[in-house]
Amino acid sequence: MAEFTMELNDEQKEVRDWLHGFAADVIRPAASEWDEREETPWPVIQEAAKLGIYSLDFYAQQFFDPTGLGIPMTMEELFWGDAGIALSIVGTGLAAVGVLANGTEEQIGTWVPQMYGDADDVKVAAFCSSEPDAGSDVASMRTRAVYDEAKDEWVLNGTKTWATNGGIANVHVVVAVVDPELGSKGHASFIVPPNTPGLSQGQKFKKHGIRASHTAEVVLEDVRIPGHCLLGGKEKLDERLARARERAKAGGERVKNAAMATFEASRPAVGAMAVGTARAAYEEALEYAKTRSQFGRPIIDNQGVAFQLADMRTSIDAARLLVWRASWMATTGKKFTSAEGSMSKLYASETAKKVTAQAVQILGGNGFTREYPVERMHRDAAIYTIFEGTSEIQRLVIARTLSGLPIR
Ligand SMILES: Cc1cc2nc3c(=O)[nH]c(=O)nc-3n(C[C@H](O)[C@H](O)[C@H](O)COP(=O)(O)OP(=O)(O)OC[C@H]3O[C@@H](n4cnc5c(N)ncnc54)[C@H](O)[C@@H]3O)c2cc1C
Repeated sequence: MAEFTMELNDEQKEVRDWLHGFAADVIRPAASEWDEREETPWPVIQEAAKLGIYSLDFYAQQFFDPTGLGIPMTMEELFWGDAGIALSIVGTGLAAVGVLANGTEEQIGTWVPQMYGDADDVKVAAFCSSEPDAGSDVASMRTRAVYDEAKDEWVLNGTKTWATNGGIANVHVVVAVVDPELGSKGHASFIVPPNTPGLSQGQKFKKHGIRASHTAEVVLEDVRIPGHCLLGGKEKLDERLARARERAKAGGERVKNAAMATFEASRPAVGAMAVGTARAAYEEALEYAKTRSQFGRPIIDNQGVAFQLADMRTSIDAARLLVWRASWMATTGKKFTSAEGSMSKLYASETAKKVTAQAVQILGGNGFTREYPVERMHRDAAIYTIFEGTSEIQRLVIARTLSGLPIR
């Protein structure tokens, strides 16, 4: 089992520098254009695919890096380039993790490659859990999956919202209610294969930030999918539901649902995205503070500015440490006894929001314009405290874990 280390090994450094080169040379120069267009940057995803940065193999390699630092390092570098474009590149990963966390080996082998496509024909995937009335309150989910035993098919009906790549995805992973009596314990995840009739894109959202990433509603109307598209298989589902019913009868203990398994694995990765955006804004602010002169001296000569930069860098490093710790714990199978995954996401996302706002302030009027990237970074950073569980929900998870009490 790998010991926790803060030093990347030579191979990791090589990968990091390669990713940084892509972020600096390909992502960053395209960032403003795709932010304005508010469209999926297909040519950039294609370029990433050609180089091997958008592929199942690459993410599997990082995911299975025994030190746990592969994924955070990848996220930080790509999101340093630009958050909207980077989310278009890694958004498929959330759906892939949904399959990796809940699927059988056969399902992983069949569906995950179809999520990415190949360099000549790139595809994306979507993970659809949130609904108009079920955001933080996942248990309120209404999308229903009913089993048609005669045909060995599942029939899905409902409306999903906020789905990254929703409607443009080749493969959609949909979380739905199979037993309404059991609340969030009665949920299961399904694969909706490419071109399945009944699945359509609803409203595409115009957003405050990460505008190069497509976010939309997904409408499911009598969507029929084969029985083998239930992630984990029917037998495992029936066993899990039977256990949940027994526990419910005994008034007992909580059981994790399918969507939660996905979120737990992905929270430190979101923290790493936030670290990337924060670091990018900090670097812009540091450079600007050294070169902008007022009152006959660079503005960094004022403690009021220099101390802000000192605080920004300190929080970014602290955030990265929390993220690396959580990723290392997840990879080496250590239990999150103090909700360390949520801690890392909470601290890193709040840091990104604060640091990008400080960067706008340090750049003065220029920071408020689209001529300088910190304006976009500030808008982008706002997402980190919202998706994959808001900051309030992270605090709730941490507080409940630490206290053992059902804090509301
Ligand atoms: C750009 C974007 C991309 C997304 N991508 C995906 C995706 O790919 N797949 C997917 O399934 N979802 C996705 N989401 C959905 C995202 O996870 C939800 O927006 C998020 O979980 C919050 O849900 P909500 O928006 O309904 O807010 P609500 O749950 O309505 O929360 C509103 C406010 O109330 C607070 N609040 C709620 N309950 C409590 C409580 N108990 N205690 C204290 N405060 C509380 C929240 O913290 C928040 O501040 C995405 C969202 C966005 C904006």
